[in-house]
Amino acid sequence: MDKQLYFSATSGVIYELPKDMNKALDQYQVPLLNQPKSNCTKCFGRLYTGYNLSLKAFNICPKCGHRIIDYVQIKEHMNVETPKQANEPELVDAVKA
Ligand SMILES: [Zn+2]
Repeated sequence: MDKQLYFSATSGVIYELPKDMNKALDQYQVPLLNQPKSNCTKCFGRLYTGYNLSLKAFNICPKCGHRIIDYVQIKEHMNVETPKQANEPELVDAVKA
């Protein structure tokens, strides 16, 4: 089965899931094409550069993000942009549960 890498903007973790699981994910799970480069001078391979307290999400490294985020996957399967709806508490809670 095809696997896809994801970055969890709420926990800062990169993980792998079967591709057909993507409909169960919320907008904080960002599909990736590749692992970030560990020699990136901005994120050192973590893919995040800091934590946004108001969004309750990690800031994705601008250097790696535009290179490895799977925008096609987002557009075709997830119907998601960036974490704009951070004020919806049930989404955040669902990730923590
Ligand atoms: Zn980076």
